[in-house]
Amino acid sequence: MITKALYRFLGLNIDYWCREVARLWSLPSEQLVLEREAVLAETGPLNASGQPVRTLAQLSSSSVLSKARLIDRFQKANAQKSPGKRYFSRHTSGTTGQPTEIILSRAELSRLLAVRDYCFRHHGISLGESEGRLWSEHKGIKSRVMNFLLNRRVVCPTGADAVTRVLELLRWKPTYLYGYSSLLLEAARLINESGESFPSPKLVVCTAETILPAQKAFISKVFNAPVAEEYGSTEFDIIGFECSKGHRHLVNPWLVVEDGPERCLVSDVSRKSQSLVRYDLGDSLELSTSQCGSLGSKQVIKNLQGRTINRFFYVSPDKKVHSSIFSRIIDEYSHQYNEMFSFLATQEHYGELALNIDAVRLTNADDLSEFVRIRFEKECGTTIRVTVNAGAGQMQAGKRNYFIQKLTESI
Ligand SMILES: [Zn+2]
Repeated sequence: MITKALYRFLGLNIDYWCREVARLWSLPSEQLVLEREAVLAETGPLNASGQPVRTLAQLSSSSVLSKARLIDRFQKANAQKSPGKRYFSRHTSGTTGQPTEIILSRAELSRLLAVRDYCFRHHGISLGESEGRLWSEHKGIKSRVMNFLLNRRVVCPTGADAVTRVLELLRWKPTYLYGYSSLLLEAARLINESGESFPSPKLVVCTAETILPAQKAFISKVFNAPVAEEYGSTEFDIIGFECSKGHRHLVNPWLVVEDGPERCLVSDVSRKSQSLVRYDLGDSLELSTSQCGSLGSKQVIKNLQGRTINRFFYVSPDKKVHSSIFSRIIDEYSHQYNEMFSFLATQEHYGELALNIDAVRLTNADDLSEFVRIRFEKECGTTIRVTVNAGAGQMQAGKRNYFIQKLTESI
């Protein structure tokens, strides 16, 4: 395959690193810790204060590395970079609007690609097989050449001829589809409406944005293929990948991921070209331990915030309403009863809303739930169940958002 030949030409030994990824994940967890310690002792990346980190204990007591600090450090390092050594770079403007330049040696890039290959192999695909990508299109010759070498075609499903272009892409018979969740959803919607037939890909991979269970089910139905969620970033490439049983496992054995309600910190024990120790990704995620050993770590991403493409409240599998309706209703309530409070709304089941309130007196809790229920029915024509949990400590779960979608029922 031309893509594999390209990797070999660039000096990337992906097969070797792929075996290494599988070997590390086959080890008992205490053994993996020792392997990480050994790599760390050799690499000794610098933490945010500029101290070398050679043990996991030193790593966990290091201060947090912000994106701003990483950019600042890169600019300084760039001025004194030794010539002659071969580096690869990735550039992104990211979702935060701050540009980041990521520098990788051959071994570092090989490891990242090997993790990708490892995830794809779990789903019966190998790196270099044809990819249909739903992404923004770049028309230049450079990206045309890159797409050819990487065996992929790129389509952005917008504009008047979007359906035709998406159908052309599918009829090229890509092994898998890859793209932003929102663009895959849009492509699925267009294809579904067209009623046209097309060959199914083996897998659809959603990346960059989190996606709701109902949206995933729809994409899977339309493309007639399983859908796997990928969680990653420019700095680390893939961090989490969904197994065939639906868990988002941590998949890179060289990454130490610390979860938390406020932020997610990631360290790469193997990275030398650029030190990434307790790097603040700008998302917040919650990890839990699963019994599934089919892919990567048994640690899986249970809850992910900060990148949700849309925030819908699901009345039923087919009826959804944007969650901003609740901020409007509560705003009205506050005005009418002169009660000011912050709130966090969560949904765990269809048609049910839980409101966590930090201030309302308990005698008012019933009035509030009744008010939300009646106003919702008036606007949307459907009855929902509303429960109010009032009192201190209700707000800690998600300060960034006022609505958290926790719907887990399958459709
Ligand atoms: Zn699993």
